Amino acid sequence: MPHLPEILAQLNADMRATDDWGDIAAYIPQLASVDPAQFAIVVTTADGEVFTAGDVDTPFSVQSITKIFTLAIALGRSGDQLWKRVGREPSGRAFNSIVQLEAEQGRPRNPFINAGAIVTTDEVLTGREPRETLAEILQFVRAAASDDDIHINEKVAASETAHGHRNFALAHFLASCGNLNNAPEKTLGTYFHHCAIDMSARQLAMAGRFLIETDKLPRMILPARIRRLNALMLTCGHYDGSGDFAYRVGLPAKSGVGGGILAIVPGRASIAVWSPGLNRYGNSKKGTQAMARLAREMGWSIF
Ligand code: GLU
Repeated sequence: MPHLPEILAQLNADMRATDDWGDIAAYIPQLASVDPAQFAIVVTTADGEVFTAGDVDTPFSVQSITKIFTLAIALGRSGDQLWKRVGREPSGRAFNSIVQLEAEQGRPRNPFINAGAIVTTDEVLTGREPRETLAEILQFVRAAASDDDIHINEKVAASETAHGHRNFALAHFLASCGNLNNAPEKTLGTYFHHCAIDMSARQLAMAGRFLIETDKLPRMILPARIRRLNALMLTCGHYDGSGDFAYRVGLPAKSGVGGGILAIVPGRASIAVWSPGLNRYGNSKKGTQAMARLAREMGWSIF
């Protein structure tokens, strides 16, 4: 990919040239102190090449991006049974919306909104202890990234536990509808901890390789499941900004409120971008801009 180093270097320079960084996710106090003026972009290819620009080795809270790994494990364990508990439709609402959950009688619209990810976490937790479940999720992430230096940030998990009233409300509502197998506190403790995994943009791009679907890399999950995860990332990966992201970028992707985005170019590459300031949908502001430009300049799109 001859032009990639120049494209990434230019993107990094251009993103730093203006100071409209967006807003930090202050509802998790531990994240509120992160300097918004940071940017990183990493492309790992199916051929094993890695291209980088910016703060690519700075760890950040990957938050909702971990929902992909938990979903992959839940599907591996329960298969299509999982869809009895959670849907596959875009929500068109905020990541932490509660109103739809009542309308849908406690079956969340998809596994990437908070309510849906609490259900997939609960599914993985069933029959296990939280530590065992978290060890399994971490092991999956580390194996995907080929990197054992990936850890849970206990301060972020504690911070979210102390202030996660909305998620407690969602979990208790799920329980009231009979859609939680474990005590709400137990499922949420596990959910908050996997969301609190720290990774650098380099580690995240490496971890995303299992979603590329190529014979050039060792396979972690079935090809049919890779396609389905990508379909869900495209339709639901950016909450109520999913349509806009698909329109502007045209790639399956998942965002997190820590400012990370993982995007996949099927058959070709895994891309991680990080900039902690968010747009009005709760997705990385500069990260989205950079993804749109990279996709355009590389001619990458699934359409
Ligand atoms: N742990 C976060 C929450 O539940 C994840 C949200 C996100 O990254 O979009 O609020």
